[in-house]
Amino acid sequence: MTSLRALLRDRIREAGPITLADYMGAALLHPKHGYYASRDPFGARGDFVTAPEISQVFGELLGLWCADCWARLGAPDPIVLTELGPGRGTLMADALHAAAVVPGFPGALRVHLVEASAHLAAQQRAALPGIEVVWHERLEDLPEGPMLLLANEFLDALPIRQFERRAEGWAERRVGLSENGQSFQFVLDDPPDDLAADLGSLSFPDAGPGEIAEICPRAREVASEIARRVSRFGGAALMIDYGYEGPLTGDSFQAIRDGAPADPLDGPGSADISAHVDFSALAQAAHDAGAWTHGPVPQGIFLRALGLEARIEALGKTADANQARALAAAFERLVSPDQMGRLFRCLAVTERAQFVPAGFPIHPAPDSG
Ligand code: SAH
Repeated sequence: MTSLRALLRDRIREAGPITLADYMGAALLHPKHGYYASRDPFGARGDFVTAPEISQVFGELLGLWCADCWARLGAPDPIVLTELGPGRGTLMADALHAAAVVPGFPGALRVHLVEASAHLAAQQRAALPGIEVVWHERLEDLPEGPMLLLANEFLDALPIRQFERRAEGWAERRVGLSENGQSFQFVLDDPPDDLAADLGSLSFPDAGPGEIAEICPRAREVASEIARRVSRFGGAALMIDYGYEGPLTGDSFQAIRDGAPADPLDGPGSADISAHVDFSALAQAAHDAGAWTHGPVPQGIFLRALGLEARIEALGKTADANQARALAAAFERLVSPDQMGRLFRCLAVTERAQFVPAGFPIHPAPDSG
């Protein structure tokens, strides 16, 4: 038994079933036993491989995306360059490397990382030698001012709540104990009144009995805080993740342990747990906070528009046969619709009427008023 299992079990015995968000938050970020707090889940041998770990080109293109936004913002100096959930720090290292060729840009950058895991913050420090970095636990703690923001596979780790449609209305799926009092299972409970009303009339009016709905309140808060900052101080944000354009019912709560699907209620802290991201909810939250959004566009289309193919070809010119094969495999993995190309989506946030960032189609922003 992991100690986190014992801690959560005691908590449920004392106070009753907890929300899925509370369970997820503890399983991922408990300072001692949380998944991110206690291990390195990344890389070829880890539980999952993220885009920056697949190829340096991913971070390089995102670094150039930032440089392009900076130029179009009028080259503000200083400007905060931040990343939410930087993992091993690979993306930021590659982004800074690529951005170093843009005159004036490196000198203007103030690198601030938002990371809740001290274990991963130490890895990020090691990945960014010689670079002045300030860490924060929350986005809200960043200094105010013009900002460029990147977030790859961050939002899927934010705690969700789940609801199930019953004949008589919505019930919340909370985490309780099984009959033997040892393992965890879902139990249904009345949702708070404000959420029940929102689920029924606004978000999922057509859901039938048995259907499951998910919301991620923290993801909405994050989108809203980003929107508030870029519309007040100028800037651009890019969020990339696996997800969908909601509202859509379905259970996307999932766990990966040692590279294979696992039961997310088994062994909290020992598996990566996540949920798909509702990009429509993010975009709505950003609009409501006064910003413009661009996309979401599928990752494959976005990376091709930024010149992924040309960059891979350029690297191929000096590659040996093995390296050339690895480059071709990385390209496929990042853009192919049956790999990361379609499921992963990219959403950008900018100040209203500012500019359309690279990689996004030029059209009037929806409900821009
Ligand atoms: N962006 C990286 C890592 C993705 S994993 C990559 O693409 O490889 C998610 C990252 O977000 C980890 O660094 C994790 O510790 C961090 N994280 C998860 N939830 C967080 C939260 N609520 N606040 C701050 N950081 C968080």
